[in-house]
Amino acid sequence: MGNSSTADHGPDHRDHRDRTTATAQRRSRFGRTASVSRREFIAAVGGVGAASLVSPSTDAAQTDTGTLRVSVSPGPIPPPVWFRYGISGLRRDWPVPFRECFAAIEDAMAQLQTYAVSHSDRIDADFDIRVERGPSVRFPPLATPRPSELVLPSLSTVLDVFRDRLRDRGELGGPACHVLFCWSPLNYRVGYGGTMSPNDLVGATGSNGTAAEGAQTVANVGATEVWDSRAISRNIAIHEVFHTLLPPELVEAVGGTDCDHDLGAAARVQTSGDERALRVTPMATAYAGPDELGGGTRFHGTGCYDHDEFTRHDGYEGVDRFEYTTTLSEATLAVATQYLERIRERRRA
Ligand SMILES: [Zn+2]
Repeated sequence: MGNSSTADHGPDHRDHRDRTTATAQRRSRFGRTASVSRREFIAAVGGVGAASLVSPSTDAAQTDTGTLRVSVSPGPIPPPVWFRYGISGLRRDWPVPFRECFAAIEDAMAQLQTYAVSHSDRIDADFDIRVERGPSVRFPPLATPRPSELVLPSLSTVLDVFRDRLRDRGELGGPACHVLFCWSPLNYRVGYGGTMSPNDLVGATGSNGTAAEGAQTVANVGATEVWDSRAISRNIAIHEVFHTLLPPELVEAVGGTDCDHDLGAAARVQTSGDERALRVTPMATAYAGPDELGGGTRFHGTGCYDHDEFTRHDGYEGVDRFEYTTTLSEATLAVATQYLERIRERRRA
């Protein structure tokens, strides 16, 4: 916890850390395993020679008032990932899970853009949300405060290093959401990902209150891929982006609680095989099942949530399986639209 909550947040607001409840189990199973640590270490210091060659595609300063930028950067990708998903993209592209999560974010932003333009008289028809590939990010050892951080950097450290790299490249400038896709399936300190104040909202101005730095968020695609499924990877990627579009006071005005996970929905559906499934939207992903290992997702989120306060939660008793939809709940889109209205007004002022 290198950061503290400020600005838009109430005193008891928690940072959005979608961490896992299974820390103890994972520690005991994997905690001091030298080979794992070494591999993680190599990945952490960027010695994999597998960085994407995508160059910064946007001058942050050129962003106009009718555009919100969502920039996605790949973190270090360990060699086994390339072998598993194909090395053809080693130089010119991203591994398949990153590509599909990027596409999921594009789809989610298209949902938001459509909703915002059609439901708000303050958002013009030409309002655009641009989802783009950002620079790849490495984690040099000198950037980490403690030796343990080399092996399992905390969420706070990952976000700080990410922001420093973006600043060095002139990529910061709001409003923007900078997303880091990382591949750290064993890093329980990052869990599935998350954001931290004060850079947890796209309109964030940064710790000194002046420079616009936008939001930085992490989606641990490696964790969801290894422990869960592609469907959950997609939803968590969307989830971590939407954290940066949902300020607690607007969440509370619409949803009645200041927890944005409650904006999600979990609806019972009958599937073709006569199974009963619980269909979970992105903001409810990792929070819709019982708080136990394998409760919907392999690891249950530890952030705030209350099933009774979800915009819809039909209960998981008697459910045969969980399924995941990238379609956002209306409440999620409504709050994000209000926030877009607010930052547009602020920029025009
Ligand atoms: Zn979350």
